[in-house]
Amino acid sequence: MAYDPNNVFARILRGELPCKKVHETQHSLAFHDINPQAPVHVLVIPKGPYVNMADFTAKASDAEIADFTRAIGEVARIVGAEEKGYRILANSGADANQEVPHLHVHIFAGRNL
Ligand code: AMP
Repeated sequence: MAYDPNNVFARILRGELPCKKVHETQHSLAFHDINPQAPVHVLVIPKGPYVNMADFTAKASDAEIADFTRAIGEVARIVGAEEKGYRILANSGADANQEVPHLHVHIFAGRNL
């Protein structure tokens, strides 16, 4: 699937739409989900134009992949989810009902999931 540069997360990355930022690194951005499904619901995205995890792992540099993976762990620490636990999830494609065609990992926490 070709990357759509007008998807909502691309627009957030360009500063065209606001977000409630949690964490930012050289290659990744984390922000609160606009429609939270748990007391803590944060999305972590790579800054590069990757549709999903397959696209990302095939095309991203080792530095981007390391940065993104570390950012997910760091966000769990920042939101205070380390002690009681959390869930990470990445929807990919139609059968998973992926809504936004820019790779994102959901982090859910703050209650028994
Ligand atoms: P998915 O179904 O995995 O593609 O999830 C997309 C997520 O993006 C949903 O949980 C939405 O609530 C969230 N979302 C959509 N637009 C925004 C936005 N402008 N800011 C933050 N989260 C958003």
